[in-house]
Amino acid sequence: MRFILLGAPGSGKGTQAKSLGEHYNLERISLGDILRQEVKNESELGRKVKTYMEKGLLVPDEIISLVVAKHIHSDDFILDGYPRNLAQAKELDVILGKKKISLDFAVYLEVNEETMLKRLSGRRVCPHCDANYHIENMPPQKEGVCDLCGCKLLLRRDDKPEVIRKRWEVFVSENMPLRGYYKEKQKLIVIDANGEASEVLQNITDKLNGKQ
Ligand code: AMP
Repeated sequence: MRFILLGAPGSGKGTQAKSLGEHYNLERISLGDILRQEVKNESELGRKVKTYMEKGLLVPDEIISLVVAKHIHSDDFILDGYPRNLAQAKELDVILGKKKISLDFAVYLEVNEETMLKRLSGRRVCPHCDANYHIENMPPQKEGVCDLCGCKLLLRRDDKPEVIRKRWEVFVSENMPLRGYYKEKQKLIVIDANGEASEVLQNITDKLNGKQ
């Protein structure tokens, strides 16, 4: 099975992709995680994408398509955070077409602006081991400290209020055409993602199991 997770920043794509990857034993390819790692490593790619990410802008499509093509290793996977616009969706079809495969589903996690704001402004990450927390929904045992490695937790640079606003604007402008693209192909599955992560996961697996 191959599918993509679509949705606004803070819709829970990363969290759900991890759980779904374990549930269905699928490789998870997270564009945001891959790019953040490149920035952390100060690689050539990392240097190219850093400014876009810090401003909440999309990294140019030609860079992204090379990264995606390089990371799709098997025929079964979950793509998290890609495609983000119509051009990327069409490019993905080309990449998969070369492998003589196509997507099964596009799972769209729908959240309102209030949920998005709450989730992103409360998110804290560990700069050392990349563990994610939320100050209310998933707090660490000791405030401000990573449970796994003891490092001081930080607010992600692109979770600052002015950058969150920009990311939301980018999402709103790109989202409708992307959604329309997969709806037309009858691959779109829309999930209300405002609730608890476990509830959302159950809804996704119920829908996917019903479609297989
Ligand atoms: P995420 O962790 O998915 O919210 O992504 C963090 C940032 O990485 C985004 O705000 C973009 O700057 C960049 N990014 C991630 N995925 C893509 C993509 N498919 N196209 C362009 N930029 C992306």
